Amino acid sequence: MPAGPLESLEARYEAVRTRVAQSLKAAGRDPASLRIMAVTKGHDRERVDELRRMGLTLFGENRVQEARAKFPDAVREGLNLHLIGHLQTNKVKSALEIFQVIQSLDSIRLAETMVARAAGRTVSVMVEVNAGREPQKYGVWPEAVPAFLDSLGKVSAVRVIGLMAVVPYVSDTRAYMEETAAVWRKERSVGRPWAPLDDLSMGSSNDFEEAIGHGSTLIRLGSVLVGERPGYPG
Ligand SMILES: *Cc1c(COP(=O)(O)O)cnc(C)c1O
Repeated sequence: MPAGPLESLEARYEAVRTRVAQSLKAAGRDPASLRIMAVTKGHDRERVDELRRMGLTLFGENRVQEARAKFPDAVREGLNLHLIGHLQTNKVKSALEIFQVIQSLDSIRLAETMVARAAGRTVSVMVEVNAGREPQKYGVWPEAVPAFLDSLGKVSAVRVIGLMAVVPYVSDTRAYMEETAAVWRKERSVGRPWAPLDDLSMGSSNDFEEAIGHGSTLIRLGSVLVGERPGYPG
């Protein structure tokens, strides 16, 4: 489905970049400290190709099967593909074949399964943080992150490159962002060799400016950048 002349992808991207630049400036941040991910779930491969032509190289998908069909070999294409949706243990092998980073790690069992399926390769992950402690959502609660990171040290061949915040869908997300960013800064400074935590993946279409103000290094943009997802749940 074409984006339409009034809302061409170029126009969307330009508008997003302007807002991002303003937020970075307001926060006194270096533009190089933030990456924009295009979340392409629910969209077809043509949309991905359009985004590539505009220079985007970082993509996020929620489902392993859908991503496999759309990105059969992201690395060879020079793309960086991350899984941002929940991963079931029976899909781990398949996921590791196509994703460079699994942002949705939230259990030790899943980490162990990854290592067992990774054939000796080190797996790059982020720990999913359930910033609002919402029982129906996945993710480690903020207060449980330190112990979770400690436990991951016993699972060899996992490299924790960041935290992925899942923030409640409410109009004022500041308190959640503030708490998650504080956990990120503190745990980064601990200096666990297996958990450099360079990234804070936080902010999507409705709150990315706020997230940039709170130190996010990676914003995950679906609807505002790629377009609405008719009929796609979540
Ligand atoms: C779908 C999704 C996004 C993008 O959401 P938008 O509101 O469309 O920007 C970001 N993060 C996760 C985990 C998602 O599932």
